[in-house]
Amino acid sequence: MKESTWPARRGRVVCVLCWVLLVVPLAGCSSVSQSGSRSASQSVSQSGSTAASAVTTVRGADVVVSGDVPQSRLREVSRDARDAVADVRQVWGDSVLVGRVQVEVASDAADFRRRGGNTEAGGQVAATTTADDHVVLAPALFSRVTQQGRVVVLTHELTHVALHQADRSDISRWIVEGAAELTAYRPTRLGLASAAPQLARAVRAGRVPTGPPSDARFRSAPEAAYQEAYGWCAFLVHRFGLSTFTHFVREVDGGRSGAFRAVFGVTSDSLQGEFAAFLRQQIDNGE
Ligand SMILES: [Zn+2]
Repeated sequence: MKESTWPARRGRVVCVLCWVLLVVPLAGCSSVSQSGSRSASQSVSQSGSTAASAVTTVRGADVVVSGDVPQSRLREVSRDARDAVADVRQVWGDSVLVGRVQVEVASDAADFRRRGGNTEAGGQVAATTTADDHVVLAPALFSRVTQQGRVVVLTHELTHVALHQADRSDISRWIVEGAAELTAYRPTRLGLASAAPQLARAVRAGRVPTGPPSDARFRSAPEAAYQEAYGWCAFLVHRFGLSTFTHFVREVDGGRSGAFRAVFGVTSDSLQGEFAAFLRQQIDNGE
């Protein structure tokens, strides 16, 4: 049952296992200039105690970042989150994420858990989006991920917030996570083989997925499932265009049954051959 797949903690439904973003090398991201031009004009105000060490909140135009961590880290996250908001709007439009986005920075594993973070993957989770649309960042995000990797993680999470999918158990996981991965990786210009190395290895070994991963796949092999969902969504965008893809996701969000056939005009099964050819082409020619 889908409802039992993604555990609830203290009433806050945990949506995300972003461990892919931790275990997959993000070195490729660090060589891509994505956000330099956007980082100069930030205006951040502060609240809380006047003592610098006690400041727990940094407010930007779109984002409120809080946590019991040094102010410099909150400011850093505020800048990254502002870039992530822009990346989400590039795909989903300017009407999303209106109002201040709430991002919480956990100081340690216990704090992460207390704030609703998913700890079931043994420290592999980079961030969690809670049912009340708070993004909670794990400490590992600052020790094991590059700055651009953090923007990727934030963009992934804020896509969930933008689409209000954090507590939706009625939507196939490949749509929820694939849409978030697509949005997050799109600005990095990373090739499929770099963004989804496990998928690339499988394709090169002749194990080519025939369609999107099942919800069961997210339980049994989540790292592979995230990458397969990303590959499938990248294929749909390649085949039908970004606006058709986002229209499909919004139709699903709106509860429309049969949205895939209605929007794309075909069944997913009928795309099997084209999907395989896309994967082979992308992975053979990309890096
Ligand atoms: Zn996610």
